[in-house]
Amino acid sequence: MKIHEYQAKELFRNYAIPVPGSQIAFTADEAVKAAEDLKGPKYVVKAQIHAGGRGKGGGVKVVDSLDGVREAAGQILGMQLVTHQTGPEGKKVKSVLIEEASNIASEKYLSIILDRATADMVIMVSPDGGMDIEEVAEKTPERLLKVHVHPTVGIQPFQIRKVVKFLGIPKEGMKEAGKLIANLYKLNMELDCSMVEINPLVVTAENRVFALDGKINFDSNALYRHKDILAFRDTDEEDPLELEASKYDLNYIKLDGNVGCLVNGAGLAMGTMDIIKFYGAEPANFLDVGGGADAESIENAFRILLSDKNVEAVLINIFGGILRCDLLAEGVVAAAKKLDMKIPLVIRMKGTNVEKGKEILAGSDLEFAVAETMKEAAEKVANLVKQPVA
Ligand code: GDP
Ligand code: MN
Repeated sequence: MKIHEYQAKELFRNYAIPVPGSQIAFTADEAVKAAEDLKGPKYVVKAQIHAGGRGKGGGVKVVDSLDGVREAAGQILGMQLVTHQTGPEGKKVKSVLIEEASNIASEKYLSIILDRATADMVIMVSPDGGMDIEEVAEKTPERLLKVHVHPTVGIQPFQIRKVVKFLGIPKEGMKEAGKLIANLYKLNMELDCSMVEINPLVVTAENRVFALDGKINFDSNALYRHKDILAFRDTDEEDPLELEASKYDLNYIKLDGNVGCLVNGAGLAMGTMDIIKFYGAEPANFLDVGGGADAESIENAFRILLSDKNVEAVLINIFGGILRCDLLAEGVVAAAKKLDMKIPLVIRMKGTNVEKGKEILAGSDLEFAVAETMKEAAEKVANLVKQPVA
């Protein structure tokens, strides 16, 4: 789960990570009121959306008066902000963070990410902050340092010294920077984050060290033990189909292709997506309906899948174990009838009660093609959709 910058900064404050004074505002009037409570005369007005690159997209404005705050807030609130992370349609801005401007001497990069390959935390830093870290990694990899921290051992003082040195923090700011890194690591572990990022981490002309931006992603599987963080969820920022799927505990992730997939089991779902691509088509989604799916969840899954306008054909690939093939067939027939399905359907079923399932499908007035193997299923469905332009 992602949260907004202003929420991340609230958590930073709880962990004694220095941030400039700031307040959230939902209208231009509120923005001016917020600024009046802060130290002026320079302020930064920052669009709050779940995407980075706001600065380049015109979503971050530095102003030098209360009138400037009103004007900038008026421009940013309600705008459809397009950044390299939002896609071409952009995201509507509903709130702005009003922040005391900092006297920036240099911008650094700091993040902590869960590294699944090494099963530990990796602290990533660069003295070149404020820019795309992917670009730094590609063009000047020597300007990026990764330090692995074992979760049981925890972050060690020598690692903090190494990181602070690499960042090129001036002597006067080293102690504050070291504390900040230790506190960020603590936050990351205690709140079950999958990533925390401060870009830029700034050193001011007075050698203070601040988090000027804040991004936190949480491991959704751990949110049950962080009810207060769950309250930060902003469903307006989520994909509407994924949001709908989450209501029924369906593991659905929307993708950009045209073949809708209904599969049980995450591994089989991944394999199905691979083989669809192998035959030249593109999956429209990842969907694992789970082993214990009943007719109702099959119906919901089918409805969500078909609401994706890009879907031109559907592939159902089921290995009947706990989920029996006859039950699946009943769910599919009921859903297709109710939803008045118009697009072609390819079904591959194996396992428990497969014969009974096939009888149910054959006895219905549903039009579909049956495939025996995954290869056959993928080939058939790929032939039914427009091929992507190579
Ligand atoms: P992002 O573009 O979405 O990552 O938003 P950031 O919060 O990182 O802001 C983008 C850029 O705006 C930063 O890299 C800074 O250069 C600039 N910026 C943000 N806050 C301030 C500030 O208080 N003072 C000044 N002078 N610049 C700022
Ligand atoms: Mn940033």
